[in-house]
Amino acid sequence: MSVQVLAAEMAEVELKDVPSKELTPESPLTTKADDKEIVESEPKAVATSATTPTMEPIVKTGDPSPGFLIPNTKMPQASAMKRTDPQQNGGEAFVNRDGTVAEAPRLKKIQFADQKQEFNKRPTKIGRRSLSRSISQSSTDSYGSAASYTDSSDDETSPRDKQQKNSKGNGDFCIKNIKQADFGRREIEIAEQEMPALMALRKRAQGEKPLAGAKVVGCTHITAQTAVLMETLSALGAQCRWAACNIYSTQNEVAAALAEGGFSVFAWKGESEDDFWWCIDRCVNLEGWQPNMILDDGGDLTHWIYKKYPNMFKKIKGIVEESVTGVHRLYQLSKAGKLCVPAMNVNDSVTKQKFDNLYCCRESILDGLKRTTDVMFGGKQVVVCGYGEVGKGCCAALKAMGSIVYVTEIDPICALQACMDGFRLVKLNEVIRQVDIVITCTGNKNVVVREYLDRMKNGCIVCNMGHSNTEIDVASLRTPELTWERVRSQVDHVIWPDGKRIVLLAEGRLLNLSCSTVPTFVLSITATTQALALIELYNAPEGRYKQDVYLLPKKMDEYVASLHLPTFDAHLTELSDEQAKYLGLNKNGPFKPNYYR
Ligand code: NAD
Repeated sequence: MSVQVLAAEMAEVELKDVPSKELTPESPLTTKADDKEIVESEPKAVATSATTPTMEPIVKTGDPSPGFLIPNTKMPQASAMKRTDPQQNGGEAFVNRDGTVAEAPRLKKIQFADQKQEFNKRPTKIGRRSLSRSISQSSTDSYGSAASYTDSSDDETSPRDKQQKNSKGNGDFCIKNIKQADFGRREIEIAEQEMPALMALRKRAQGEKPLAGAKVVGCTHITAQTAVLMETLSALGAQCRWAACNIYSTQNEVAAALAEGGFSVFAWKGESEDDFWWCIDRCVNLEGWQPNMILDDGGDLTHWIYKKYPNMFKKIKGIVEESVTGVHRLYQLSKAGKLCVPAMNVNDSVTKQKFDNLYCCRESILDGLKRTTDVMFGGKQVVVCGYGEVGKGCCAALKAMGSIVYVTEIDPICALQACMDGFRLVKLNEVIRQVDIVITCTGNKNVVVREYLDRMKNGCIVCNMGHSNTEIDVASLRTPELTWERVRSQVDHVIWPDGKRIVLLAEGRLLNLSCSTVPTFVLSITATTQALALIELYNAPEGRYKQDVYLLPKKMDEYVASLHLPTFDAHLTELSDEQAKYLGLNKNGPFKPNYYR
């Protein structure tokens, strides 16, 4: 049980020079070859249980880490994070980069289609919903810009039963309808406007191909934002084959545009369980083509290759994983000594956590509530359970709309933050009778139980912004005396015998994923991190990364952030030589230690 912060050498990848204005001045692409970040490998102390105080690992940032993607430079250090042993209560504990010990996300039991040899089920549309329960949590619940603007309900033919070809005669894809390609192309072009960093990377490549020879197999949400990422990877030299990580989130028109553009995409909105694994298999199992990189969101693709084609790992150089669920699985593999290639944990990158969780939720909570209920926020009493990044975003948005916001917390530090931010810290039972809206965002389970649901007032809106649908005990509402009425898509009225009704959104699943879209700009930050992680793993010389899970270094987070600054016409202050010396920093960063969150 230790935190390891491992040093790694810099990738020797060449890219053509581009005018410096297109990149921020502090780009790691332009730093000196001999820069070095000092990272000691031993932590001062690491606690072994969630109740033991912890000390932070020693991570010194003397000279900042060097550049990325330029010849003869050294890689900013990536750090490997080790999990602790399972805690006594059966939960996993892991050590954060900041040295704290946390309980691993509680995941719903995941069942995989391990035993399946054939793909022969064609469930009816009605049958799909129940089938989806046996696939992984993340394939039904995870984040993405999930709205598809094309309605697939008018065509019941399974894409697997259709023979389609794009305008160049290529049929190596399986999607809903290739005729939607033009519409999808417009969606991709709109997304490009909000994804400046990926567009900058494309310009940066200008003929140089840091991913030349890379055969990337991907399993993520197939949305306009993913399309921008895929087309960027392709511009950098990669070949891509892609499946959806979520059976509901594919934008059919975008999948069509990708197929028309020559990408091998296997995905459509409303896949069955059998379709889900079939699509993944079609990406991987192709004569004469073997992937050498994996980009996963949820771990299902990685799992499939482990189970079905373990020999493929001989050629695979690395895995890039985005989701909390997938990262959890990678750590489990690593702990069991079964991880056979290096993996990059994008989920815990500071740029993902700070932006995806905080800003994304700050923007999408109102959207999700408004679209489903048309509620007016001014003067409404809202209780937000959990004041982490997601809770902070939700509270800020609701406060700005004039709602009266209460917060519940278990952690005194986050509780104090809530107080200092001007929110009333309460226990749920103190306000449950009076509030108009209840929002969970704890990552925990059974936060809102039947007892609370019984005591809510008539018309109370109940929803969840946390990862899994365990925060609200929805199952406890499925009892004979309660009547369920579906009043809109994703909106149920649950009615008590005395006529009281509560408004349950998305059956307790992630509200913003289920009922609204996620801002493209936020996804741009994550997608850029993914692209850089792929470039790094693909180009890393043998031995730089072991069979372990790594975090991208702070320098890379800073680089991702800096690529997004021009959008705001933001002017970053440069350290003077004197100031840099005073702070003990390199003028080009990193500006914070690796453990800084
Ligand atoms: P976090 O760990 O920063 O915050 C969760 C907070 O909940 C913590 O402060 C914790 O002390 C508190 N908490 C735990 N149990 C509690 C309880 N019983 N009552 C009150 N408070 C409790 O995590 P986060 O980054 O805010 O993410 C929260 C959840 O949202 C996670 O499940 C995460 O995966 C998910 N998430 C959702 C989105 C989205 O778009 N909806 C985006 C990112 C993350």
